[in-house]
Amino acid sequence: MSLGHGDLRELYQEVIFDHNRSPRNFHKMDDADRVAEGHNPLCGDQLTLYVRLEDRVIADASFVGHGCAISTASASLMTEAVKGKTVEEVESLFRDFHALLTGVPPEGRDFGKLEVLAGVREFPVRVKCATLAWHTLHNALTGDGEPAKTE
Ligand code: ZN
Repeated sequence: MSLGHGDLRELYQEVIFDHNRSPRNFHKMDDADRVAEGHNPLCGDQLTLYVRLEDRVIADASFVGHGCAISTASASLMTEAVKGKTVEEVESLFRDFHALLTGVPPEGRDFGKLEVLAGVREFPVRVKCATLAWHTLHNALTGDGEPAKTE
């Protein structure tokens, strides 16, 4: 079975609506090893990202915050996508995901559900919404390991 362009678009929008309506891993994490804040002033998206590491593997990831449908859905999809991956795998996925949204999608990469966000390519302003959670995760992983102070 093959999906026409219109059907695929509808399917993608459904996934984004679903993840915005009921975001996955949407909670504070009390035993997080890393915490980072993300803010996209262009749209008003704001999120706090929590990561728990076991060695160099992301054992758990969650977020709280508020923003547009794209930023919320992207953060939700990201927390699902990165669990169980090593820090290096996540950094590599971020690079490819960023290329998917802004430039030439890398060949041979299976993005899974993240693919639904490729549609923002047509809306450059939305790229910042879709990559906010990823930039925040990058900051969390490359930070000094101390949870960010909230006050
Ligand atoms: Zn936004």
